[in-house]
Amino acid sequence: MPFDIPTAALMGSTQATMLAATLVFATRGYVGPARRSVHVWVASLLLQAAGWMLFRQHAFFNADFVRIAGNGLLVLGFAEATRTLRIMCGAPQHRALLWTTALLTTLAIAWFTRLQPSYVGRINALGLAATAFSLQLIWPLRDSFGRGGSPGRRVILLMMLLVVASMGWRVLAADLAALGAGIDLAPCLADEVNTLVLMIEPLLASVGFLLLYNEAAQSELARMARIDPLTRIANRRALAEHARRMIAEAVRHGREFAVLLIDADHFKRVNDQFGHAGGDSVLCTLVARLQRALRASDVLGRLGGEEFVALLPDTGAAAALETAERVRAAIAADALTVAGQPHALTVSIGVTALQPGDGGLEDLLHRADRALYAAKRAGRNRVVAADGGQDAAVSPAPATVADDD
Ligand code: GH3
Ligand code: MG
Ligand code: MG
Repeated sequence: MPFDIPTAALMGSTQATMLAATLVFATRGYVGPARRSVHVWVASLLLQAAGWMLFRQHAFFNADFVRIAGNGLLVLGFAEATRTLRIMCGAPQHRALLWTTALLTTLAIAWFTRLQPSYVGRINALGLAATAFSLQLIWPLRDSFGRGGSPGRRVILLMMLLVVASMGWRVLAADLAALGAGIDLAPCLADEVNTLVLMIEPLLASVGFLLLYNEAAQSELARMARIDPLTRIANRRALAEHARRMIAEAVRHGREFAVLLIDADHFKRVNDQFGHAGGDSVLCTLVARLQRALRASDVLGRLGGEEFVALLPDTGAAAALETAERVRAAIAADALTVAGQPHALTVSIGVTALQPGDGGLEDLLHRADRALYAAKRAGRNRVVAADGGQDAAVSPAPATVADDD
């Protein structure tokens, strides 16, 4: 089958341009970093399109110029595509390394075009560049077919392996033939296959790019669905997930687990005095203080309103009561400053630990809620243990009582 390089160049250029236009049109609604990554991708497609277009226009331009500038644009386009895909894979972008590779390759093409004309020399330079770019993606994606891999990562890994294989074949065929015959060669089958691969690369890599983009957007949405928008801590859904995991681990390994239900006292007064925005900022300050009083392995979440839950792994009833008392005292110790005015905020806390019959978080929260209600009834700014009776030995604070209901 005779292979018409100018036709392939026309197809490569048209395909890359149309892909670029489609992407710009289809991603108009994207914002922030997502939009920027699309822009860099579109720029890389247009560079490749311009490179292919130059090859197509060889009748109008000087042949050497077409060779140097066409290959230079293609190589720079591949460098930018590699950079974007590395960003999407969470790897450092290596911009300087990729651009230097593109520049050195273009200089090598110029050398083997003007100073020491050699087809084999140019093929070797392009082969080295393609391998270097591909390795920049193959390495971070090397585990993509194992656990944790994703369709987008797999598409790109396969694409890059295909580029390396076809480029390697082309370089090997040229080098071996040149060695055997001692002459520079005309294009052969390996060239045609490699040109085809490079031509369809923008399409397949764009599919990979969109899959990666979609995966990143999905995981960002999943992350946002688990975060309380005001205080940036776990919301009710995330708390339930953390608790499910912690309770399962506690049951499996015979460990302890406890829950604190924390409610700001008289919070309505904060809103009345400082307005809703002032109340919001108090909630954020309260969360920062609660987090400081807890351990790094504890999970703090917002159940709703001015009510918070702390999940305490490896913590029994007595230790949980001590922790709750420490948290209560830390909040009561210093008045908050709201709109330049001091405001003494306190919290009441209901405490409970995992018991053999517990089905899940809801059972613990039910007990903790009863204890919290008792703390409110007893005058607020205090800790009550739902697991009545155990407090006497461990609770140092007069504000800490047991709920014997
Ligand atoms: P108690 O000591 O009995 O808990 O009294 P309280 O006033 O804290 O409790 P109550 O449940 O009666 O009122 C809670 C208040 O918290 C009412 C509500 O407006 C306020 N609140 C709930 N969510 C938010 C929020 O996101 N921002 C602000 N600023 N206020 C909130
Ligand atoms: Mg309250
Ligand atoms: Mg409340």
